[in-house]
Amino acid sequence: MKFAVLDLETTGHGADDDILQVGVVIVDEQLDIVKTYSSFVKPTVPIPTFITGLTGITEEMVKNAPELNDVLLDLIPLLDEAVLVAHNVGFDAGFLNQALDRCGYMHFTGRRLDTVELLRIFYPSITTYQLGAVAEQFGIDGHQHHQADSDAMATALIFIEITKKLRSLPLLTAQRLSALIDESKDLHWYLKQNETWIEQSTVFESAEFDYYRQFALRAKEWNEDKTPREEGSVNPLDGVTFEDYLAGIKERFQAKFEQYEERESQSAMFREVYAAMSEDKHLLIEAGTGTGKSLGYLIPALYYSVQSNSKIVVSTHTINLQEQLRQRDLPLLGEVLPFPFKASIFKGRGNYLCMRKFEGKLNAQDMVAPIEDPITAAQMVVWLSETETGDQEELNFGNRGPEFWATVASDADSCLNRACPWFKRCYYHRAKHESNIADVCITNHSMLFTDVQADHRLLPSYSHLVIDEAHHVEEVAGKHLGLSVHYFTLVQASQRLFRDSRSGLLPALRLKLQQEGDDHVQSWVETIDTVIPVFQEIKEHWDKLFELLYGFVANASDSVSEGGALVKRLHSGMLPKDWEDVLTVENNIYVELTRVTKSVEKMMNDVKDRVDDLSVQAQITDLNGAIRDLNRVKDELRIIIKLEDIHFVYWIEASSAYRHRSLQLFGAPVDVSTQLQKHFFDAKDSIILTSATLTVQKNFQYAEEQLGLVGYEQQGKLRTVLLPSPFHYREQALVVIPRDFPVLKGANVDDAYLEKLVGSLADAAAMTKGRMLVLFTSYKMLKQVYDPLKAHLDARGIGLLGQGIDSSNRTKLTRRFLQQPETVLLGTSSFWEGVDIPGEGLVCLAIVRLPFQPPNHPLVEAKSELLQRQKQNPFMKLSIPQAVIRFKQGFGRLVRTARDKGIVILYDTRVIDTYYGKHFLYSLPGPKIETMHTDQMVPRMQEWLSSGYSGTRAGEQTATLTKEE
Ligand code: SF4
Repeated sequence: MKFAVLDLETTGHGADDDILQVGVVIVDEQLDIVKTYSSFVKPTVPIPTFITGLTGITEEMVKNAPELNDVLLDLIPLLDEAVLVAHNVGFDAGFLNQALDRCGYMHFTGRRLDTVELLRIFYPSITTYQLGAVAEQFGIDGHQHHQADSDAMATALIFIEITKKLRSLPLLTAQRLSALIDESKDLHWYLKQNETWIEQSTVFESAEFDYYRQFALRAKEWNEDKTPREEGSVNPLDGVTFEDYLAGIKERFQAKFEQYEERESQSAMFREVYAAMSEDKHLLIEAGTGTGKSLGYLIPALYYSVQSNSKIVVSTHTINLQEQLRQRDLPLLGEVLPFPFKASIFKGRGNYLCMRKFEGKLNAQDMVAPIEDPITAAQMVVWLSETETGDQEELNFGNRGPEFWATVASDADSCLNRACPWFKRCYYHRAKHESNIADVCITNHSMLFTDVQADHRLLPSYSHLVIDEAHHVEEVAGKHLGLSVHYFTLVQASQRLFRDSRSGLLPALRLKLQQEGDDHVQSWVETIDTVIPVFQEIKEHWDKLFELLYGFVANASDSVSEGGALVKRLHSGMLPKDWEDVLTVENNIYVELTRVTKSVEKMMNDVKDRVDDLSVQAQITDLNGAIRDLNRVKDELRIIIKLEDIHFVYWIEASSAYRHRSLQLFGAPVDVSTQLQKHFFDAKDSIILTSATLTVQKNFQYAEEQLGLVGYEQQGKLRTVLLPSPFHYREQALVVIPRDFPVLKGANVDDAYLEKLVGSLADAAAMTKGRMLVLFTSYKMLKQVYDPLKAHLDARGIGLLGQGIDSSNRTKLTRRFLQQPETVLLGTSSFWEGVDIPGEGLVCLAIVRLPFQPPNHPLVEAKSELLQRQKQNPFMKLSIPQAVIRFKQGFGRLVRTARDKGIVILYDTRVIDTYYGKHFLYSLPGPKIETMHTDQMVPRMQEWLSSGYSGTRAGEQTATLTKEE
């Protein structure tokens, strides 16, 4: 047996396109490369310019190349009795057969393997399958992407690595894998071959894994986890003052980092955080970029926690920051702190795999999507041999992966807890246990509020809390304390119960019960048979309700969201005209759902009392979870449809393309400050709220008002501290405002404005050689700019990437931006914060418009109305502060380290022409700000960038230790 690893470069993807280059690498059964072959092919059609740009293949290079037939004569013997391997094998095999056909040869009908599919299974955490990026991650030197010989070699080396990895897996894992994949597939054959190889070569199973219920697991039982310091031992901080502790840490930093220099603002942060914690005060602390904010709170928090034997909870908003704490800051602290400590990560329950459900799904072969689901399951089986956490964040799913995950994720309603055979290996209970014994528990804002709603039964009990990225707390609170019902909420919940006569929890339970010898079986089966048709009726009512609601939004939408959704506000306490039909249909749903859930609950209780079989009990537990979901949907729908709570704002969103199936109902509290006071500021001893963007015009008033902290400072319960960034913004950042630039009115962009903007962006990009991020406030405008800008940039050899055009994935776009040397990136909402491109990768940031929120979004509108009732000015009190915070976030993308130097072009002249413009400029951390005519911009930019800046030694250290918000 041999593997022929093939790569083809072609003139395009169509049936009329030609092969331009062939690369083949032959790998034998021992995984040795035994032969290589490559050749250009003379095409019969001209090579399109973009293909030459992509591959580097010119007409000149192929003009004397062999004809296709001659190349195939070389290729056919190589493919004889070979297994064809390619990266996206469908493409290469399709082109190969097309070529064979054209020249009158038989198709290749042998086995095929796809390295993309293999990577998904065997490298479940890899974040990209793009060949160039994978080759880089695998350390393959000298790879030239889009050259057939080099791509074939890279694919062959990747294939060899994958196969070696498969052969090193535990036999149980290999057996699980081959059992998952349909026997008719070539992938099954490949897995079986290697399973046999493992069987023959394995004498003892590795002690690295825990073998349990036919799974090989990396994580061992969690009851073996110990507390960080021996119980009853002397407190390591007895007699150690906070200043001694800081001095000790400083010494260790100096020993570790030769160039370490203390940063004033970080030192101030240590002391402020410690003072607030030990004096039971709340603290609002803005720490500019480069302060080293996370160490700024972790170092004092760990001292306070260990010294007082109390737990500190740290909450972040983004996964990026959580990962940064886990991967960078905590290990570093492990090296410099004078005592051992334990920090744990605790996320929402749905992030953890429920092994009981996963095992049940695999054993029952319950695969809804017959092609995708087995691959996702295989990916997870491999992942189990690697993961310590069972956290889905580590998995890179395919398209249907999230749906698969939803069926196997841990959830409170269907957990067997101590009765579960997996309890001691359960990932969720492990994370919970670790949080209980940890000194610091790191969680996220969502979890803080989920814990509040679960009466504080989820997080370990705490009285000291650090909230990082605190500018997001109010918004997350609003989401969690509010309600939302999507069309698919009920559809998915009822599909879990019944999909067809053989799949779904009810048919599965029916089958199982029929095998029981109990007298009640007949009546249980009758209950199931009676409720199943009712779900069909409920679904019909549900469709009718959502069609009616879609009528409301389609006929009279108030606004269109940034994503293009139609939005219609529903006023609380005021039922809309013609709402009676909605109420009637909702009532039908409510009554029917109550009836079915009650009869299923009654049956479940009876089964639970009479049947001991563990697998039946497990099915009842899952069913219980699904019934609770339905009850929740029913109750939340009723609350929204009644529109009764005057402290809430209600609205509908739907897309005109997907109509009622895209419809979502929302209910959100207008003001969350009272709830924040009740659950946090009045309930906890000390809360540290920090972010790089809390102040507006160097003032905390807006944050205090939003969070419900007004008056706490006067009572001596709150301190506010603004720490400047250690960066030298005056030398590092130049803000250019083209003062003659037209002001854009409303959301529509006219041709003259577009032309001027595109011309200016193209000139600036030519000067900076790409390396430019353009921030928009609307996706519509981004799309309008994309094509004309692309035409300008193409002519100057500069690439362009657009969010939602080249990819919707921020991480992928950022990576491509970094990999492609001279490129401009256009981004909207998510690019305003959280994108970190240090160094020369980003030289220029263009802000097209000030980031005001659309005033007619129902939530913004309701908040404005509340302010008006309080005799306050919503524009000054809400719109400006919100926009300033976002503007500061956007600005923060430019200078990420002490050595960065760059330019911000601000195309919105309202910053200099209006009375409120100063709020924006004065909120920035001190860059050089210049206004000029548009024509003067490029020469000035050139002058500024060529003047050079080398940063400072302290800055260098800052860049090493702190790269964060
Ligand atoms: S203990 Fe609960 S969450 Fe964990 S595996 Fe068992 S049923 Fe699933």
